[in-house]
Amino acid sequence: MLDSVGLLLRWLAAQDSPELVVISCAKAPAISTPPGAINAILTGCIAQESDGVAAQILAVGARQVSIHTCGIHKDAETKKASIWKNATPGLVTDFHPTRKRLFRQGKTISLPHVPLPRRAVLGFKITSPIDFHADDQERTAQAIEALSISDPDQVFSAPKGVQLDANGCTLCGVCVKACKNDALQIQTDTNNGRERVEKLVLSQRLCRGCHSCIDLCPVGALEATQPQTWRTLQDPEAQLLFQSETRKCKNCGARIKSIDRELCALCVHRQENPFQSVPLDSVRKLLRARE
Ligand code: SF4
Ligand code: SF4
Ligand SMILES: [Zn+2]
Ligand SMILES: [Zn+2]
Repeated sequence: MLDSVGLLLRWLAAQDSPELVVISCAKAPAISTPPGAINAILTGCIAQESDGVAAQILAVGARQVSIHTCGIHKDAETKKASIWKNATPGLVTDFHPTRKRLFRQGKTISLPHVPLPRRAVLGFKITSPIDFHADDQERTAQAIEALSISDPDQVFSAPKGVQLDANGCTLCGVCVKACKNDALQIQTDTNNGRERVEKLVLSQRLCRGCHSCIDLCPVGALEATQPQTWRTLQDPEAQLLFQSETRKCKNCGARIKSIDRELCALCVHRQENPFQSVPLDSVRKLLRARE
């Protein structure tokens, strides 16, 4: 579902590059804007908006952004305004009301009540470098790329996400299923039917640092090394965390990491102890110790 900024971005992208978008706090005094300008009234205060909102609005085609604050959270508003201004120098300014009487005025949009763009109603595609359905972090990453912001780590606060290390991974795939953001994958290069190379890879751009993968790994193989940065998010390559050659167990078909053995650790144990039932914890220990 689109959030209210996503709705605004979709609407803006459907217009012909608005000359000026004024971003107003919900409680900022009413203003008049010149024709061609759009006054977007937020649901709250600018201070609560993300670091990337102004960049996202510029990336969908606005030529200039102006900030119209309520003044209730003055320090936090000034801080947010300086982040927006530093990220895109010269393109974000403070709003100064005009003294001239305006016979024609720009449009006002109060979030979250953003009209559906006519183009969308008519079924035409709205093209934009920003995916309106993506979350704020991904939209900000896309805006950084679209606007070629040179040093995003210096202006925006750190993105959510972790860089991961894997040691002693058994390529069981639990972390892949645990990740709600599809950031982890097991990729396979097959040589022939039985032998192949399996890789656990992380798409850093999709990780939001929830730690579910770390908490649920049955052998404690994963560790968060350092927080993500905007710079690392720009790397299109998935990060290789672990790789191993594997083959199918001759007996049960389970994957074995070592290719110089025919049977998986569990089948070896069953062969050696034919009358013993194996509890789950021991299975985990066995798999870890022997593969
Ligand atoms: S990191 Fe842990 S959960 Fe993920 S595949 Fe490796 S062993 Fe399984
Ligand atoms: S920390 Fe969370 S979002 Fe990141 S890879 Fe692990 S499960 Fe996925
Ligand atoms: Zn405010
Ligand atoms: Zn087996």
